[in-house]
Amino acid sequence: MRKLDIRLSAESGRADYTLRAGEQRLALNGWLGQRIRLHHTGKIHCIECGRATRKSFGQGHCYPCFSSLAHCDLCMMRPETCHYFQGTCRDPAWGERHCFRPHTVYLANASGLKVGITRGTNTPGRWLDQGAVQALPILDVDTRQQSGLVETLFKARVSDRTNWRAMLKGEVEPLDLIAERDRLLAELEPGLAELRQRFGNDAIQTIDDVPPLAIDYPVLEWPRKIVSLNFDKTPRIEGTLMGLKGQYLILDTGVINLRKFTGYQVAVETEAA
Ligand SMILES: [Zn+2]
Repeated sequence: MRKLDIRLSAESGRADYTLRAGEQRLALNGWLGQRIRLHHTGKIHCIECGRATRKSFGQGHCYPCFSSLAHCDLCMMRPETCHYFQGTCRDPAWGERHCFRPHTVYLANASGLKVGITRGTNTPGRWLDQGAVQALPILDVDTRQQSGLVETLFKARVSDRTNWRAMLKGEVEPLDLIAERDRLLAELEPGLAELRQRFGNDAIQTIDDVPPLAIDYPVLEWPRKIVSLNFDKTPRIEGTLMGLKGQYLILDTGVINLRKFTGYQVAVETEAA
């Protein structure tokens, strides 16, 4: 299994979900209200090299891949700690291709206001993965490291986390992201000016011509209480599909974050209710 493929339909503003298991691609939105069964066979294969692994590291890797690949390094989670310039990047050529290119700093509303960064090309995918209902790109930044430094400034005032329980209960108040952007950019101006001095005036540019995006998720009914399901504890998971949000399936029996189980071998069945 791979992480859910989520696309935003331009006409409806709704997230369209596809489950990817092996060669199979299953359109999930049409399964709402139906019973589904997911059965983890016990096998896990590294999504990078394909070898069997007893445990998954870093969302679907075997330990050798996890501990050697550049995209599994800690600096992917904390871009401000980029160590390319110290000569200790695990794969400098990969770093040049992936980190030394434009990144976007954004504000999103998944369970309240949050800040995040993503590669310029990875919107709106990143927001869909997080279950954000609103998102607004606010700064174009030259490199991943710089975007991490900008995000660090913002983290003094805004969370970079999503409360997934609140996100899944649908208890999310709409925000005026443009007003939040203007407020934060004004408050953080001294720090941003410092970074511009260090990296050049053009390195960090305000985006003010992109409107906020609203995202609707296919959900029949929000769960009242969140029960978290896990293939490691429960290999057979079964229930009626009540909704899809972020990387989660919402069943009437509990919720499961499918991204966590990337690389797991899973048999999927459905039947009309
Ligand atoms: Zn591997």
